[in-house]
Amino acid sequence: MSVPAVTAEWNCTRCGSTNRKLVPADTARARDRCNHCRAWHLVEPDDRPVRWNARLDD
Ligand SMILES: [Zn+2]
Repeated sequence: MSVPAVTAEWNCTRCGSTNRKLVPADTARARDRCNHCRAWHLVEPDDRPVRWNARLDD
């Protein structure tokens, strides 16, 4: 049995690129790197299921 996964979609606060990361459904916080400018971000779920909040994690 596999763990349900959700797509965490977040906007880079540095360059504005949209990034997507597949995470386990019960994830409360994830760390991901922007595909464009390579800046590390902390991403957390918002009220909406797909769009996550992101902030720089330097
Ligand atoms: Zn970026």
